[in-house]
Amino acid sequence: MKYFIRTYGCQMNHSDSERIAGVLELANYEKSTKEDEADLIVINMCSVRESAVSRISGNFHKYKNYKKKNPNFKTVITGCILPSDKDRFDKLFDLIIDIKEIEKLPERLKKDYFKSDSKVQNPSITQESPAKAENNTINDYFSINPQHNSKITAYVPIMTGCNNFCSYCVVPYTRGREKSRSVDEILNEVRNLVKNGYREIILLGQNVNSYKPNENTDFPKLLQLINDIPGDFWIKFLTSHPKDISEELIKTIAQCEKCTECIHLALQSGDNEILEKMNRKYTSEHFLALIKMIRKIISDVAITTDIIVGFPGETEEQFQNTAEIMKKVKFDMVYINKYSPRSGTVSAKMNDDVSWEEKKKREDFLNIILEKNALENNQEYIGKTIDVLIEKIDKDYAYGKTRSFKNVKIFHFCHPELVEEISKKKDAMKIGEFAKIKITQANAWGLEGKIIE
Ligand code: SF4
Repeated sequence: MKYFIRTYGCQMNHSDSERIAGVLELANYEKSTKEDEADLIVINMCSVRESAVSRISGNFHKYKNYKKKNPNFKTVITGCILPSDKDRFDKLFDLIIDIKEIEKLPERLKKDYFKSDSKVQNPSITQESPAKAENNTINDYFSINPQHNSKITAYVPIMTGCNNFCSYCVVPYTRGREKSRSVDEILNEVRNLVKNGYREIILLGQNVNSYKPNENTDFPKLLQLINDIPGDFWIKFLTSHPKDISEELIKTIAQCEKCTECIHLALQSGDNEILEKMNRKYTSEHFLALIKMIRKIISDVAITTDIIVGFPGETEEQFQNTAEIMKKVKFDMVYINKYSPRSGTVSAKMNDDVSWEEKKKREDFLNIILEKNALENNQEYIGKTIDVLIEKIDKDYAYGKTRSFKNVKIFHFCHPELVEEISKKKDAMKIGEFAKIKITQANAWGLEGKIIE
């Protein structure tokens, strides 16, 4: 039996999909690279930015056709699903399962296969191989052995859920309250990844600053413990809430050599009244003070953010306060979203009174500021020699990432007389290894350089 997973949304969902694949492969499913060749399609849904129903409505017809051709074909939906969408999805999909219980997917499939069609058997779960059955020690979501999509970068969830209830956000309703993963489990997973050659570990949580598995451990402590694991690798993390990020954490990042210089800190709005309506629990002044502290303690740090434009009641003046903060902070990247209500949230009851055209205008305005700032920030790299993690090599270029999460294109095509010399340097560049790259050019969205050793 073959499975195909379609993932929508953020890194957390992509990490969840790697765990869904882990669960299915333990139950003898094989990955299919093509949707139309799969016997099982798992939709890992995101409801954060768009209505989940409209997002996947185009697929319903296609899946009906697959079902006609393949009597074994089944569809499963999981992920970030609003309670109000559950009834609808229950009718459209063979199975709806909570991501927090994804370790039970094979068992639920078995039940549901028989429930929906007593004649159709699922050979992959009725004839489980003894070797796999013996190793099947999944107790909960965190103990799933994920099937990583990359051999270089691995997402490691350290917590799930969120307690913050920002007024526009569905996450506390879809993922539940915060639950921190045990330190030992995280350290074991990271040790294994490093042993298997992974170079970039990205710790994931909706608000990593709330990580608190016991009285003696918090997020800075966890970073120190991971930093102490022997090996040549980078530590990154997503994402921090401005109300919770502490001086201790910033100092820890600066002191731990494996922690890289990039921080994602979601601003959402630069206007205090809007921030209050969003229930963000900080002010624009607090946010600016944090940026000042981060830049003072961590040298060459890249700062990225999220902004929502056109929140209910946002006036032109309030929007301009956001634009002013963007100009002041000069973010390296900004993920700008036009506000749209999500049912069940507090802001969905507010009057969504900024027109779509106006939201688009505000988004475009901020994008112009972003492009200018990002270009200026990236130009600072020109002439510097920096470590780059090589991710891909083709005929003329290699591609990689800096410690500050910037994309780098490395030119290795050269004058014929220099071929021999350069090919030696090319050999020095290997996928999944670090290389010293001299930055020669920059644009707003990335850097270009050449290898120097
Ligand atoms: S911190 Fe706010 S925006 Fe982030 S997941 Fe929690 S509720 Fe949503």
